[in-house]
Amino acid sequence: MTKQTLKEPITDPITEIDIYAKLKEIFGFNNFKGSQLHVIKSIMSGNDTFVIMPTGGGKSLCYQLPALITPGTAIIVSPLISLMKNQVDAIRNFGVVSSVAHFLNSSLARPQIKEVQDDLLSGMTKLLYVAPETLTRDDRIEFLQRLNISFFAIDEAHCISEWGHDFRPEYRRLHPIIKAINPDAPILALTATATPKVQQDILKTLNMQNAKTFVSSFNRPNLYYEIRPKPQDEKLLHKQIVKFLRENEGKSGIIYCLSRRKVESLAEMLQLNGIKALPYHAGLDPHIRAENQDHFLMERTDIIVATIAFGMGIDKPDVRFVIHYDIPKSLEGYYQETGRAGRDEGEGKCIAFYSEENVQKIQKLVKKKPLGEQEVALELIDETVSYANSSTCRRINLLQYFGEKYTLENCNNCDNCLRPKPKVEAAQEMELLLETVLAVKQCFKAKYIMQILLGDESSQIKNFKHNKLPQFGEGADKSELFWQAVIRHSIIENLLIKEIETYGLLKVTAKGQKFLKQPYTVMVSQDHDYSSDESDDPDIVDSVNSVGLGGADKVLFTMLKDLLKQIAKKEKLPPYVIFEERSLEDMTIQYPITMDEMKQIAGVGSNKALKYGQPFIDLIKVYVTENEIERPQDIVVRSAVNKSGLKVYIIQSIDRGIPLENIAEAKGLSLEELLHEMEIIVASGTKLDVNYYVQEYIDKTHQEEIWDHLINCENDSIKEALMHLGENEYSEEEVRLMRIKLLSDYGQ
Ligand code: ADP
Ligand code: MG
Ligand code: ZN
Repeated sequence: MTKQTLKEPITDPITEIDIYAKLKEIFGFNNFKGSQLHVIKSIMSGNDTFVIMPTGGGKSLCYQLPALITPGTAIIVSPLISLMKNQVDAIRNFGVVSSVAHFLNSSLARPQIKEVQDDLLSGMTKLLYVAPETLTRDDRIEFLQRLNISFFAIDEAHCISEWGHDFRPEYRRLHPIIKAINPDAPILALTATATPKVQQDILKTLNMQNAKTFVSSFNRPNLYYEIRPKPQDEKLLHKQIVKFLRENEGKSGIIYCLSRRKVESLAEMLQLNGIKALPYHAGLDPHIRAENQDHFLMERTDIIVATIAFGMGIDKPDVRFVIHYDIPKSLEGYYQETGRAGRDEGEGKCIAFYSEENVQKIQKLVKKKPLGEQEVALELIDETVSYANSSTCRRINLLQYFGEKYTLENCNNCDNCLRPKPKVEAAQEMELLLETVLAVKQCFKAKYIMQILLGDESSQIKNFKHNKLPQFGEGADKSELFWQAVIRHSIIENLLIKEIETYGLLKVTAKGQKFLKQPYTVMVSQDHDYSSDESDDPDIVDSVNSVGLGGADKVLFTMLKDLLKQIAKKEKLPPYVIFEERSLEDMTIQYPITMDEMKQIAGVGSNKALKYGQPFIDLIKVYVTENEIERPQDIVVRSAVNKSGLKVYIIQSIDRGIPLENIAEAKGLSLEELLHEMEIIVASGTKLDVNYYVQEYIDKTHQEEIWDHLINCENDSIKEALMHLGENEYSEEEVRLMRIKLLSDYGQ
């Protein structure tokens, strides 16, 4: 029984070079992210280690890699049963045998448990995922005492703290149990929650005050933050959302709502609009809930509409957007929820809808809580409100909240930085507003005041004869959005207060009274109007400096993605567990056609390459041959022979006056790609006589207008041309084609 190795802390016979080699071999990465390497070295040298790293920072690797390369079994405590399976699936895919990782929780049947235990005893299992409640059983503890434990990892460690946003009582009991299993094995605690209070609580509860602590920056440069005013009219709001989803078709996204009812009705509305969306909330049948989550992970649905019950530990790396239908209750929650976007460092748009009424609703709910909790909750809401209302960089605000300083003035990836809110002088309007509040004896809410200002004769206003007030209709020359901004500003500036006790009646403060006596300049920043019907809104969505997905070769990317989905389906695994999108993307650039080349693809280790690479290699091989693609490797060798068959084919076909659509189809290209090829051809000095096509397909006046613009403009940017000509009227293809004609006619 007395195993020699039992009580030994991990020794460190492995060098840094080895660790890098393993990183490449097992996970297919060339470099560590952030503090990963230091964390790994720390835990492998037997130190208790505390890791604070934002969502998407790569915490899993901090325990997966050392677990795989040190003797013994690492025990990973993870809070959610439903997610353990995913984690285990993912890690099994990095290894060769499935016994390398197991989980133990209440979902397993007896024979399965037996199998896990056998593998553990035989030493095959390097990672054992457990739920905290599983650990508390005495027979489990006895069994685990017999194992050689390399270290304990406590994922989502903030669950230990009541000050965190997801307290779980079972986590409190972890420390004595861990010590009973193996008092010497080091502990690795990991969390994305950074408030100092929670940090202290974790260290104390796990008795690891001497832990080496690694705090990463909370900045997520790839996330784009935007707050939109929430239209009062729900239909308009839904229109905005549907529009956004259509523009982002095929991408994975999460929409968070506060209530279960909203989750269901919104999911249904989206389905009615032909969008692949499913609901998720704690009130759903557990079976359906698990299924919906699975559909999302497996990419059988694009959108999950959910309460905040959804998301913790969801490791889907390619969630492309997170929409907050309602404003979150705290900034911390907002940060966590938005953090689920773009974990792979690709595109991640975070859009939250904000309205005063929403805030009041939350405040009302808080008022039902015990007094002790109310204060904290209200404070948290206030912080969210001021974040939403701020007209300065969102990133600076958010990071400040986590005690971090962001040194740049403009992050270039939030609404306030990309499209600063226009400011207008509004002293007169402010006066009018305050006077109106006084005129109705400070007994009405913002919405009512606004109606008076706008001259809206509601029955309530008529009842009170407020349509006879001198202020009635005095602000009708301004929009509702404008008045919202003025009211908001008056509250921020403490000229008005909104009484919570009376659910939001507006009162003039002493400072407000003073202002009335002696008005001074006020600059009010105005919200952008997102509710305009048509797509004439300058595309905020496109202005994001996103990492465009789809790779260099969009056709191939789509083919690879389809193949991936097929294989995933067969293997019953989420697609990204097999290959992440950015690996596919890399394939569209490198065109790997041998196993060795496949192993070099970003995110593909040798095991994964051997396990899943072949069908991708086969597909790419055929694709490369059929389309006579010059692979980057080839170009070096064959640069002299620049007569790519595809180009010759295109030149000959155009000579013969074949419609472009037919040429594209014959070569399996989209029109877009064909145009691209043609651009390369003319740029390299070969004439393409596209007149036959231009005359037939482009309207005469369009031809002239485009020609005029191209001839006279300084640069040849298509985007600029479209902007100048009008994106609604002119198509990109037209402009590109005309440019090809121009280059052909004049460029030679
Ligand atoms: P966290 O648990 O911190 O939220 P994950 O462990 O789920 O984050 O990792 C997020 C993403 O980062 C995953 O897609 C993962 O594959 C990727 N990742 C982790 N480490 C690296 C690395 N060293 N290089 C590149 N990508 C990495
Ligand atoms: Mg994680
Ligand atoms: Zn910014």
